[in-house]
Amino acid sequence: MDKSKIVEELKNSIRDIPDFPKKGIIFKDITTLLKDGKKFQEAIDCLVERYKGKKIDKVVSIEARGFIFGSALAYKLGAGLVPVRKKGKLPHETHRVEYALEYGTDSLEIHKDAVNPGDNVLLVDDLLATGGTMSAVSGLIEKMGGKIVEVAFLIELTFLKGRERLKGRQIFSLIEF
Ligand code: AMP
Repeated sequence: MDKSKIVEELKNSIRDIPDFPKKGIIFKDITTLLKDGKKFQEAIDCLVERYKGKKIDKVVSIEARGFIFGSALAYKLGAGLVPVRKKGKLPHETHRVEYALEYGTDSLEIHKDAVNPGDNVLLVDDLLATGGTMSAVSGLIEKMGGKIVEVAFLIELTFLKGRERLKGRQIFSLIEF
């Protein structure tokens, strides 16, 4: 099957949940994609295809849904996996960043020794909405001296123009709505 057909089928497997977690938000539910073994594999394979041979040292992924894609991708690339977690979850010394969500605000942390200066970093999350989360995390990685090779998402909500928040960075999304 050609790539665009695969992506179209992946897109069709994502479920819309209106007014979740609050009124006015259409939540993109990826559990309907993940529970289908072939589709989950295809989604990961598309990302692996793009990043193999790119000398990625660390895949940095964001709690919680980012871990699903980040860990499978890191395994296939032979790269290290670095979790960015919600406040208070990481046990060692951390850098912290505050950020705004499409719905609310929060803060995220990363271990201070998780990324070394000069590391080739691939940033991964499930979905790009306003770009607030990823722009905060990108800043953090750069402050630590990591070189961001690309920022990858399974899904991009293009109408929210998250790319503009991430201007100047290489961005990839597999599925666009
Ligand atoms: P943002 O910072 O606005 O780009 O939001 C991205 C983060 O919020 C991602 O980690 C997503 O998991 C989550 N998110 C935001 N909007 C949605 C949505 N409509 N459906 C599912 N997840 C979303």
